[in-house]
Formats: sequence, C-alpha cells, structure tokens
Amino acid sequence: MKRSKQYDFLIVGSGFGGSIMAMCLAKSGYEVCLVEKGSHPRFAIGESSTPVADMILRDLADQYDLPFLNEISRYGEWQKNHPEVVCGLKRGFSYYPHKSGERFSSDGNHSNELLVAASVDDVNSDTNWLRSDVDHFLVQQVKRLGIDYFDNTEISSLKREDQVWKVQWNHGKETSDLSIQAKWIIDATGSPAFSEKFFGTDSSSSGFYTNSSAIYSHFEATEKWFDYLQENGFYTDDYPYNPDHSALHQLIDEGWIWMLRFNNDLLSAGIVFDNNDGEPGCELNSESEWNRILSKYPSVQKLFEYSVISESPGKLIYSGRLQRRLNRTFGDGWVALNHTAGFVDPLHSTGIAFTLSGVERLLQILNDSKDDEDRMRLLKVFERSLFRELELTDKLVSACYLSRSHFRPFSASVMLYFAATINYEQKRLSGYKTHSFLCADDEELTDIVEDCHKQLQHWNCLSGREKSRRAEELIQLIREQIVPYNSAGLMDKNKKNMYWHTAVMF
Ligand SMILES: Cc1cc2nc3c(=O)[nH]c(=O)nc-3n(C[C@H](O)[C@H](O)[C@H](O)COP(=O)(O)OP(=O)(O)OC[C@H]3O[C@@H](n4cnc5c(N)ncnc54)[C@H](O)[C@@H]3O)c2cc1C
Repeated sequence: MKRSKQYDFLIVGSGFGGSIMAMCLAKSGYEVCLVEKGSHPRFAIGESSTPVADMILRDLADQYDLPFLNEISRYGEWQKNHPEVVCGLKRGFSYYPHKSGERFSSDGNHSNELLVAASVDDVNSDTNWLRSDVDHFLVQQVKRLGIDYFDNTEISSLKREDQVWKVQWNHGKETSDLSIQAKWIIDATGSPAFSEKFFGTDSSSSGFYTNSSAIYSHFEATEKWFDYLQENGFYTDDYPYNPDHSALHQLIDEGWIWMLRFNNDLLSAGIVFDNNDGEPGCELNSESEWNRILSKYPSVQKLFEYSVISESPGKLIYSGRLQRRLNRTFGDGWVALNHTAGFVDPLHSTGIAFTLSGVERLLQILNDSKDDEDRMRLLKVFERSLFRELELTDKLVSACYLSRSHFRPFSASVMLYFAATINYEQKRLSGYKTHSFLCADDEELTDIVEDCHKQLQHWNCLSGREKSRRAEELIQLIREQIVPYNSAGLMDKNKKNMYWHTAVMF
C-alpha cells in the first residue's frame, strides 16, 4: 500500500455487508479500501436468510457482474459451486409452542404446529449461512478482485479536511502511523460504537415496541426435531418439508428459541427473551439461565441431552437488549449501512435481507448522485426510509410477541409478516422498483400493520378468560385486513397450518 493512497471509499467492517458493498463499488469503477478489526474466519451471528435476501443477491450479481453472489442465492447452486462454504437448507419457517413442565403436544389437525414453506423445493431453496464461512468466502472474493483489504486493523483517528478524510489506523500489533485518505467512509461495522466515536451519533432503544435480548451459541451433537416428532408418534406425513431444514422456532413462556441447522451438523440455537414480560437473569450467568430455561421444556431439553457447545464461539453469548437505532445515519462524507443504523430482532429473519436492501439502495445513491449536495439529499431520503423500515419491522415483530401466549392469534400475527414479505417479493419480481424494504413506503400496508398491532396491544391487556374469548375476533380481523396482500392463501383453515405454496416463483 502506498502510504497516503487516496480512495473514493473506505469501508469499515468486513461482514457480508461491507464486503459486498466493497465489491460492487469496485465494479462501479471506484477505488475502494476495506478494513476489518478482526480476521476471518470468525464467528458471527445472523444466519437465517430469506427469499428477499436471495432476490437481492441475484440482482446485485447481475448488475455488478459478481456471479458468485448468484451462486450462493439458491441451495442447489450453492452446493454445486461452493460446497466447501458451509450452509444449511432452509425450506421455510416452522413454529411449535411449548408449555412449561410438559412435553410437546399437538393433534391430527396440527393445532400446535405451523409450517410455512418459503421455497418450492430443495434446489431452489433458501439457506442458513454459516457466517464464519460465508463472510470468509466473500473476503476472499474481495481480495481476488484486487481491492485493498486490511484485517486486524482499527482506525485510531479521523479528520475531515477539504472534503477528504485523513485516516490513521493501527494494524495488528503495530501502533504505526500508517495513514490513508478517503473521500467517503461507509460504516459497515454492524454496531453503533464506531459512528458514536467518530461521527458523534447516538444510539438508542427508545421508541421500539419490541424489547428482547438473547443468549446463543453453536452446538454439536444435538438431536433433530423431526426425529423427535416421528419417534414420539406425531403425524408428519403432510409436512411440506423437514422442519430441521427450516428456521425452527420453539415458542416458550419466556419468548422463543431459534434453531438453525447447517450441513456439517452444527446447530445455531438461541433463547430470545421477551423483556416486556420481565428481565432474564443472563447478565449474572448465561449458562445457568440457559440450563434453567431448557429444563422447563422437556421436549426441547431432550434435543440437547448429549450436545456440546462448539469450539467456535466456545461459549454462550448474551446480547443485552437487541433493539437499537442511530439518531443519524449519514453526515458530511460518511454513511452507515443498515445493520449499523439499527436492528429490531431475530424473529422473522429480516436482518440479512434488510442489510442487502441497504447495500442495493446505497449503491444506487452513490452511483447516481450528480454531486455531493445531491448525494446528501438522497441520503436524507434513504435515512427516512430506513427509519420507516425499522418501524414496520418492529410492529411486525411486536405483533407476534404480543400474541405469543395463544398459538392461534400468534399464527395469525405471523401472517402479517408473510403477507408483507410476499407482497414485496411479488413487486420486485414484477419489475416494480420499490425504494423501501418490505414496502415500508406503502401506506395501505403500514396502516394495516399499525391497526392490527394496536388491536393486539388492546387484546394483550385483557384478562385470561376475556383474552381467550376475544381471540377469534382478533384472528378474523387479521384475516380481513391482509386480504389485499394475501395472494398465497394465508390463514386458509383447510390448510391446517401446513403451507406448501407461499413461495413466489422466480
Ligand atoms: C442475536 C441476533 C440474531 C440474528 N439473527 C438473524 C437471522 O436469523 N437472520 C437474519 O437475516 N439476520 C439476523 N440477525 C441480523 C444479522 O446479524 C445482521 O443483519 C448482519 O450480521 C449484518 O451484516 P453486516 O455485514 O452489516 O454486519 P456484521 O455482520 O455485524 O459485520 C460487521 C463487521 O465489522 C467488523 N467491525 C466492527 N467494528 C469494527 C471497527 N471498529 N473497525 C473495523 N471493523 C469493525 C466486525 O468485526 C464484523 O466483521 C441477527 C442479529 C442478532 C444480533
């Protein structure tokens, strides 16, 4: 590296967001530098992809001539082209409610099961990303494209002079005076700390309806849920897919547990606590809290009977409150990527798609803006839209938390998300260039979600008997509200909670 090379863009953080951004900008003809404070491969969370994420990957692949993005956008192509990069088959979203102290139970009508297929078959299926592998793979592509990449590098000082950032950093053990210059900085660190330190932003959890935190890790030698169901005589003949090949949600009194399986038999699992219903004790000891919760749910505990925490990350991780949002997402010569700007919750697996939609939109702005003034104007529009997207996601997630004590209203609330996402997929596919993730700019849609969310808040305040009595009214309300967006037969009683065909064909 030349000592004071000047770049068009310095990207800070090489998660998939930063790496894909770097490659697309380089392909657009810019001089790009990517820095990472750690080194790959490294453990990262945020693994369950969605059809929306896959669609954006394919569009970016075409637009910026990055064919390997296409190759990791479908399970079949991924296995054919990059079997060494570990992922897992994700055919859809599955939900099972558990009662404290009781083994899981259901019936022939699948009253306590909900399986929603998001893809038509294995080949065209969505994936769970083993992030250590995927992010490492993408950084290798960054290097292959000749982009300057520095790992073990932390920025120590930033000064903006004459429309250029003078950047100093520490590389590895050196506390050297290495310096570069960059016209723009993209903060892809996936956390608010960098922008708080260097751009004076504030991150806050206020304003979110959702209030959750998680403990999570990767596990080896866990039993499969489908085996458990079959061994215990549950009727699974009409399942649209094997639930271990999905984003598996075990609903519990405290919140829910995610289970995401990879091809190498690793399992990503995490307990997400609904803190609106009381704080967990993880701050004190994550391990005892994990064991305490599992011991309440015998069918879930059975899966972990012989399991061990995998070498990476080697421990249980406690997240603290998950909801956060920056007060500003851009400024003179800098802009934050989506996961730096804000996050709601793992429920509905929106994070990867949200990040990729930010990459896509930011690229348009950076490539199309006529001058700096125009760029700042467009970034303001981007910021407004990003805040609306977080608000919509928050209500879609919160609706499910509000209803999670009763499985039928919960299943109806989940459909609000599916209606929104299927609508977005269809719009993209028909060539309509929506500027907002999940069509958060569609007022009719946001009004529907707002209304249902309000009704759920009222319902949640009712006493036990009244709550059960009013549950059907609530379900009917959601059924009626989603009609304009319900092209996939969601909430059709004849489907008995088994949705085979919600996937948009592409
Ligand atoms: C508990 C939890 C569960 C989640 N589950 C899901 C899910 O199931 N599905 C889903 O779609 N999304 C999920 N997400 C969201 C998902 O994690 C994010 O959308 C995704 O990681 C964003 O990718 P990114 O590349 O923007 O940022 P990150 O993955 O956060 O990567 C940021 C990179 O920046 C580096 N970095 C940080 N600070 C600095 C610095 N100062 N200098 C240099 N480098 C730095 C980090 O080392 C890292 O490599 C989840 C998030 C959480 C917290």
